[in-house]
This record gives sequence, structure tokens and C-alpha cells, in this order.
Amino acid sequence: MKLQLLPSTFDENGCASARQHLSCFVVDDCVAIDAGSLAMAVSSAQKKQIRNVILTHAHLDHIAGLPLFIDDLFASLTEPICVFATSEVIEVIERDIFNWSVYPRFSELTNENGAVLEYHSFRSGEEFLAKHLRVKAVEVNHKVPTVGFLISDGETKFALSSDTAEMDGFWEVVNAEKNLDALLVECSFPNELGELAQISHHLTPKTLQKELKKFNQKNCPIYVINIKPMYFEEVVRQVAELKIENLDILKVGQVYEL
Ligand SMILES: [Zn+2]
Repeated sequence: MKLQLLPSTFDENGCASARQHLSCFVVDDCVAIDAGSLAMAVSSAQKKQIRNVILTHAHLDHIAGLPLFIDDLFASLTEPICVFATSEVIEVIERDIFNWSVYPRFSELTNENGAVLEYHSFRSGEEFLAKHLRVKAVEVNHKVPTVGFLISDGETKFALSSDTAEMDGFWEVVNAEKNLDALLVECSFPNELGELAQISHHLTPKTLQKELKKFNQKNCPIYVINIKPMYFEEVVRQVAELKIENLDILKVGQVYEL
């Protein structure tokens, strides 16, 4: 299975930087998990193939690229973009994004081939298929309704926390899976901003360390995601200081073969 976190920021030379403003993971070049930089950073091959987008929650950094992606493809789509999300998330994006004021309501529009946007709602705890992937949604502990995912192609599987603070249910589900190939877990703020992390329901290296004690698969590679770009260096340094084997930062843009 191929996994890539798409870039979302630029360095002083105009090239993709290591910082992550937006969240968009692409699996096997054809399924997107969150759509933060979907329109802005996909390759042309990915753009041709991605028709399934799975959302963790409705925060802007996770959905910003979705309206632009559908807009870019509008005339050329021969099948709709399928957006998988909880009913709470679908309600928010229909009310606050696709409301004709911020952007057109694509769910009511068609091109010459038919619908361009189709919603597939799921509840946390449920499993569903997105293309060749079996996806299990697991509730996590964020400021708004949010799910993490357990994703499998039948051979390889990984778990992704999305944005979250301390949690238990997610770890129970993840621990029940044997031989996970990767765990992607958030760590947004440095330790000094522990209070802000708590208020906004995110993790710091200190709280991440506590969370990882709940994870029972000691040989599984663990990758840190969703680091706030303005605290990138500090969080990277503090994560390294935890000296946890198999714990690394997920590199923006890099294609991982799980
Ligand atoms: Zn969020």
C-alpha cells in the first residue's frame, strides 16, 4: 500500500516545505483521506484517479481543498466524487461550505454524465468500502465530531488518529488489530502550549507519550502527523527527546510503501 501526505506550504524558493498546514493523505494514488490540500497538491495522475474522499471531520484544514477539487474536475467527471463522512460532517459542509454563498452546492448539480458529488454517510464504529480499501471509523476526542480510521487493503493496514486529545476507545480498536503496519498519530503543539492543546483537544509530545503507553504493538512504526507549522521545529525536537523507538515524523510529500 502506498501512502503519501500531500504538501500544503511552500518554502522561500517556492518549493513544497516540510511544514503541514493542511491535511490530505492519498492512499494508492486513488483514495484521499481528508481534503486539506487535495486540489492544490495532487499529481495529475492522482487527480485522474481520486474519486473517493474520506473525511475525519469538518475543520477547514481538513476540507479546504474539496470544493476546489470538485470545481476543477466538474466538466470532466464521468462518475461522481464520493465523499465518505459522518452525517454531522456532511451537515456542516452542506450548510457552511456548499451553501451557494461560499461555494456552489455541488450535490444538486450535474454535468453531462450525471451527478458530480455523492455523499456516503457512516457512523463511528462502522466499516465501509472505499474503492479497494476496507475502512473502519473510530471516534476520537476532538473539539468537534471527529473519527480516526483503521484502513486495510486486505494485506496491509494502518491506523490514523486525525486530530485528537487523550482517548481510550481508539486504542482499544487499534490494539485488537494484530500486526498493524503503521500508526499515524497527531501531535499539534509543543509542551509549552499544553493548555492550548487541552482547550483545542490536541496532543503535545508529553501527552503523546502517555497515549503511546496505551498502544500495545511495540514493533509497529509510528509516525507523527498534524504538527502546527509555526511550532514544527519545537515539536520535532521534543518528539525526538521522547526517545521512543519506531517513532518518527511523517515526511510531507514522501511516498511510503507500507
Ligand atoms: Zn481539527
